[in-house]
Amino acid sequence: MQQISKNKLKEFWSQCLEILKDIIPEEEFSVWFSDIEPEKYEDNFLYLKVPTNYYYEYIEAHYVDELIRTIRRIMGQATNLRYMTQVTEADRMMMNSVNHPIVENAPQNTPIILNNTEFPNPFIIPGIKPVKIESQLKDTYNFDNFVEGSCNKFARSAGYAVAQNPGKTAFNPFLIYSSVGLGKTHLAHAIGIQTKRLHPEKTVLYISADQFLRQYVKSVQDHTTNDFLQFYQMMIDVLIMDDIQFLENRTGTQEIFFQIFNWLHSSGKQIIITSDKSPADMGGFDQRVLSRLKWGLNAELQTPDVHTRMEIIKKKLEDNGDIAVPDDVIEYLAYSITTSIRELEGALVSLIAHATLSKHEITIDLARELVDKFVKSNTREITIEYIQKTVCNYFNITLEQMLSKSRKGDIVTARHISMYLSRKLTKSSLVAIGEKCGKKDHATVLHACKSIANSCEINKTFRHNVEEIEKKIMN
Ligand code: ADP
Ligand code: MG
Repeated sequence: MQQISKNKLKEFWSQCLEILKDIIPEEEFSVWFSDIEPEKYEDNFLYLKVPTNYYYEYIEAHYVDELIRTIRRIMGQATNLRYMTQVTEADRMMMNSVNHPIVENAPQNTPIILNNTEFPNPFIIPGIKPVKIESQLKDTYNFDNFVEGSCNKFARSAGYAVAQNPGKTAFNPFLIYSSVGLGKTHLAHAIGIQTKRLHPEKTVLYISADQFLRQYVKSVQDHTTNDFLQFYQMMIDVLIMDDIQFLENRTGTQEIFFQIFNWLHSSGKQIIITSDKSPADMGGFDQRVLSRLKWGLNAELQTPDVHTRMEIIKKKLEDNGDIAVPDDVIEYLAYSITTSIRELEGALVSLIAHATLSKHEITIDLARELVDKFVKSNTREITIEYIQKTVCNYFNITLEQMLSKSRKGDIVTARHISMYLSRKLTKSSLVAIGEKCGKKDHATVLHACKSIANSCEINKTFRHNVEEIEKKIMN
């Protein structure tokens, strides 16, 4: 047989599998043979596509006789065997079955360069069952309770796509970055959990870069670095590394990470990384590592808007047994804690604990007291949104009314006061204030500010009212 069609090849291969299934122990069979695909048959060679080099090595070491015997039985006695790995086209490589060596096409261009190729491999004992690996995933950090907002929509949906098809999307590596407390760890776990749900056979490992660093250092001390490397390269289908900034300036650990990364990536395994900076802003990293990080998709988590902050608080309350917290308290928390979801959650937890312990009701006063204590003064920020909200409450109008084009007296006054106070109490520019006050231009904002300042000068009651609103905001 010189050449056979793709369909015929598939049919032959499934006949081979039927036979092999009977010869090879069940667990071994499902681990080593279910991912093999027949690629082509040419010049008496059957080309089998295996996921990684390791498959080839393992099969050659343990099952080559059975395999050769079987394919010859089905495809003819002249048949020989070659393996191909699913690496990129550029470094696609072919390996000849060692039982039937052919000098040309010797193994070359292995995707990983090891200094010592004769390391003991703890996982290569014949008949050993695949080792179970603790994924270290927290099931409370899942997609169901990861509230979606415009701040995270992109990262969330890309993460979801990764979980559906790990290693098979262009999002590899998938890098999530943001400043602290904005949900990187939560999202990374959610991807891991969803991957396990959809692909229970995949081995997912969550590890913080800090833990990875410690493991590596220990392996150097114990002279077990090869085992360490083997573990990551052979056992993991989805590697989630949290807070990679811990590897800044750690050249040794970066080097080993680089090797693991290359191997996993070229074997079609998924890599998910979080960082407190975008790769463009990362210092202390080897250029090769940085360029790898840019290969896939980088997605930023931004600060959530006030609406999302409220949704997050509600979700947390719901998940913790539907604790009743008045709406104005939820609003207050969402408006006053703006920069970190972790702080927002911390304030909420301490508020509930306080109220439970002291048997007091959860009130806005208690919330004020705690927020002041909880939030570092420099992160407590008065926002335009909070000013608008307070002004609207004072005038008893809705935010929609204030942001509308209405020329009604009270509404116009409220709109102007909120612009004036935004100018006075925040660092926002006239343009930014105008943008948030119903898309007005900066000249309109300037005019509003002047008109309120004027009214305060000539009208004592008016001034008193504005001061009262300001006090409410500052409280
Ligand atoms: P980071 O890793 O970016 O520092 P975390 O993932 O630890 O942040 O998030 C801090 C807290 O905020 C966690 O308790 C997390 O559950 C919560 N959190 C962050 N983003 C969301 C979200 N979109 N929905 C619900 N909770 C969130
Ligand atoms: Mg984190």
